[in-house]
Amino acid sequence: MSFDVLIIGGGGAGLTAALYASRANLKTLLLEKLTPGGQIALTDIVENYPGFPEGVTGTDISMRMEEQAKKYGTEIQYEEVLALKKSSTSFQIKTAQTTYESKSVLIASGASFRMLGVPGEKELTGRGVSYCATCDGAFFKNKEIAVVGGGDSAMQEGLFLTRFVTKLSVIHRRDQLRASAILQDRAKQNPKFSFIWDTVVTRIEGNKKVENIKIKNLKTGQESDFKTDGIFVFIGHDPATKYLQGFVDLDEKGYVKTNEKLETSVPGVFAAGEVRAGAVKQLVSACGEGCEAALNAQAYVEDLELAKK
Ligand code: NAP
Repeated sequence: MSFDVLIIGGGGAGLTAALYASRANLKTLLLEKLTPGGQIALTDIVENYPGFPEGVTGTDISMRMEEQAKKYGTEIQYEEVLALKKSSTSFQIKTAQTTYESKSVLIASGASFRMLGVPGEKELTGRGVSYCATCDGAFFKNKEIAVVGGGDSAMQEGLFLTRFVTKLSVIHRRDQLRASAILQDRAKQNPKFSFIWDTVVTRIEGNKKVENIKIKNLKTGQESDFKTDGIFVFIGHDPATKYLQGFVDLDEKGYVKTNEKLETSVPGVFAAGEVRAGAVKQLVSACGEGCEAALNAQAYVEDLELAKK
């Protein structure tokens, strides 16, 4: 139960950190609460990870990263971290099942999707309200749906959903998309896409499943009904850091603050990827940060060992 490096989160950052830590012969444990790959595992295709000119599916790259980390000795447990504590020479990491001990900790718990927070959303989640196109898209074959958000996720996941649906209406709170130019172009050229600008969803309605949403034009203030079979919400993410409150310094949005070594306010605790304040939210940069944080954790553990002698 005692490790050199304990990594929290099995997305791109965590799995890359695990690969580097294991290859440095550090006893490495990775804790993941859901599936390996994190957000990438829920993505249909990754087109901007170097070395894959044809693109690679999110599932494929996640499984390969996991396999590669395990090949060099990383132990992976599927457990959610509830709290961390520090003693003079080590950290205690508590999960629902047990408490682990580690000389260093690497936080790579990423972020979880943001909800709209409107009436009807929670009640109808899984009954027409979804946050994952690859998980739920097939349930909407030949249906008409709404997609909320104007970023890369909304465009990319919307494009994936056009395989199933007959019509897709993007509801965006401004009149300009945030998504990258290439995804904007593809969406705008797709005949199944239409756009409802300057508009937010105020309520989701339906008896047993989604039937209607109330939308409001922010420029005119006008509210209207919009009949739909489903609503996919892609409005960004919030950092998964509740379990870290009071343990390391977080910024005002809840992201983990780090220095140039990717070390947090607690020496021996590092952070990488989307959970980190200032991170660029891309798979390739998450992996790069995972590598950097693991190398710095390695140096920290080596210094601890030297100090003991
Ligand atoms: P994002 O870039 O933060 O975009 C969120 C979108 O939702 C924005 O258009 C935002 O509107 C809107 N929004 C936020 N809160 C809202 C609310 N309460 N109500 C209504 N609309 C709201 O999030 P993302 O698209 O999930 O992307 C996250 C990161 O992952 C980004 O860095 C993105 O580049 C990256 N990503 C990359 C790819 C790719 O490279 N292919 C794919 C997916 C994600 P405003 O524009 O008005 O703020």
